[in-house]
Amino acid sequence: MEADSKPKKSGARLCCVCNQNRAALKRPKTLEQICRECFYAVFEEEIHQVILENQLFKPGERIAIGASGGKDSTVLAYVLSELNRRHNYGLDLFLLSVDEGITGYRDDSLETVKRNELQYGLPLKIVSYKDLYGWTMDEIVKMIGLKNNCTFCGVFRRQALDRGAALLKVDKVATGHNADDIAETVLLNILRGDIARLSRCTSIITGEDGPIPRCKPFKYTYEKEIVMYAYFKKLDYFSTECIYSPNAYRGFAREFIKDLERIRPRAILDIIKSGEDFRISTTTKMPEQGTCERCGYISSQVTDAFTLPDTL
Ligand code: SF4
Repeated sequence: MEADSKPKKSGARLCCVCNQNRAALKRPKTLEQICRECFYAVFEEEIHQVILENQLFKPGERIAIGASGGKDSTVLAYVLSELNRRHNYGLDLFLLSVDEGITGYRDDSLETVKRNELQYGLPLKIVSYKDLYGWTMDEIVKMIGLKNNCTFCGVFRRQALDRGAALLKVDKVATGHNADDIAETVLLNILRGDIARLSRCTSIITGEDGPIPRCKPFKYTYEKEIVMYAYFKKLDYFSTECIYSPNAYRGFAREFIKDLERIRPRAILDIIKSGEDFRISTTTKMPEQGTCERCGYISSQVTDAFTLPDTL
């Protein structure tokens, strides 16, 4: 847990919502002094409203929650199960995990997901790179080193989630991307001049033209609040970073956003709003989406979606 996310003792100040209980924390998103019970209530209610306003789910749908064992997906699994029960969404929920084959990281985090399966009573499906592609990330990193490993891994994961979702016969995949992640991605796409990604990275539902759409119920949920919620609720999650994570560029964007948030908490929502409101000139040439000649999967290249060297 980050130092500034830790709940602080707040003297005898009363909760600004119920005006009865002692405030237990300052909400990172609004800086309001609030008690624990009211924090749980507003945190869950905001997510419920996002789900309703954006029509993320329909009654009777089968939904896979992309589960890594980390704080975001663990809180997502917990909150979606609660809201599904409380508001009768009528959803069949599943946990879907991808095993990249990273010793000392994913093997441990998958143990957390297996415990979540029992704790929340949600069926779990694990798909592995080894089974799908014949390679683990450990083997790939041994071959190619630590340069571009995340490019391989990212493409593999995207496909693996689609394959797992198809096996589970779900209608949609819900992921734990939070407001901080999305603000970071907006900034990164601006810094890279990636207009195509910039125009779709703030969408709350993506891939509607593909086989299985994805949605982000935490699009407006602050990372610090997710950490607080998991902490106070004593949820069982795994907090170690991937051992192959270089992420230097994203790390700068993350730190920049954290600095802005310290000065003005709304900065995260404002960056997302800026991303949503970007209009791309009709004269801008956009990259065309292709199909891989080998596997038939969607690709940003004209031919190969992603091809491992034959020697690998
Ligand atoms: Fe894969 Fe890179 Fe993420 Fe590790 S940090 S899980 S290698 S994408």
